Amino acid sequence: MSDQVVVALDVGGTGMKCALVRPDGTVHHEERHATPADRGPEAVTETILAVAASLAGKARADGLTPIAAGIGVPGVVDEQNGVAVWSANVGFRDVPLRDLAVQRLELPVALGHDMRVGALAEARLGAGRGRRHVLFVAIGTGISAGLVIDGAAYPGAHGAAGELGHVVVRPGGTACGCGMRGCLEAEAGGKAIGRRYAELSGEPGATAYDVTTRAARGEELAVRVWQDAIEALADGLITAQALYDVGVIVLGGGLAEAGDALLTPVRAAVAARVTFHRSPEIVRAGLGDAAGCLGAALLALDALPAQEKST
Ligand SMILES: [Zn+2]
Repeated sequence: MSDQVVVALDVGGTGMKCALVRPDGTVHHEERHATPADRGPEAVTETILAVAASLAGKARADGLTPIAAGIGVPGVVDEQNGVAVWSANVGFRDVPLRDLAVQRLELPVALGHDMRVGALAEARLGAGRGRRHVLFVAIGTGISAGLVIDGAAYPGAHGAAGELGHVVVRPGGTACGCGMRGCLEAEAGGKAIGRRYAELSGEPGATAYDVTTRAARGEELAVRVWQDAIEALADGLITAQALYDVGVIVLGGGLAEAGDALLTPVRAAVAARVTFHRSPEIVRAGLGDAAGCLGAALLALDALPAQEKST
C-alpha cells in the first residue's frame, strides 16, 4: 500500500535528523531537533520518544499510515535487544530504548547503531547500490566504518564492529582518545589533520577544511599534512580490504566533501599497496547526511514480519 511510512530518527550528539520515509526509500517529510545531551540521558530519551510520537501523529494527519519506527543512536548499541548500551556524547547507559518507544508509539520499533544504519543506506540506496559487499567509511572528526553484506550491516558479536578508526597504522604514533597510539583516526581523522597542521604552522585554529583548501592551492605544508593523512588512510583501507575483500569502499563523512581532492590521491595510495588483494572500487558517498535516517527506516522495515510490509 502506498500510504505507508516509517518514522525514522538519526540521533547525534548535538542534533537529531528525523523523517517520514516511504518503504521505497523516498522521504515524505523531514525535520530536525536539538539533542539535549547537556540535560542528561533521561532528557534525551524523552525527546526521542516525543519527537517520534509527534512524527507518527504528523503521518496520520497527512493521511498516511505509520507502520514502524527506526532509531539510530551513537555509541555501543545492542540491536538484538534494542538497548542503547553506552554513549560518550549522549550519556546513554543501558537504556531500553526500543521497548520504551514501542510503549509510546504502539508500533514495531528497531534500534540501530548510527554508523551501521548509515552504511546500510549507502549500500542499498546510495553509492553502493547493486553491490553485494560494501564497506562504508565515514571520515569526520573521527573515523568509523560499517560493513554491509548482501544488504545487511554486520554488527559483530557485541555490537562493536567497524571501529576502523582504532586500527593502528602508525605504531608509536599520535596518542588517540582510545588510549592507544597511531590509530587511523589519530593520524587521518578530521580533528587530527587540523591539529597536525596547527602544530606545524603555529596557527591554533586551523581545521581539516583549511588544510584541504590550502593543499588545493599548493601550499607546501598543507600538501604535506594532507598527503600524510592520505597515506595513513590508505594503510587503514588496505587492511580493511585484506580482511573483508569488498567490491566497493564508499567514503563519506565531512572529509569526503573534499571530493576528488580526497578520492584521487586515496585511490592512488591504495592501488600502490595492492599485492594479493583484489582492488576495491573507491567512491564517494551518495546520500550525504540523509543516510542515517534512511538507514534507520530500512532497519525498521527489515525487522517487520513479511505480511506487514507493502506488497
Ligand atoms: Zn584509537
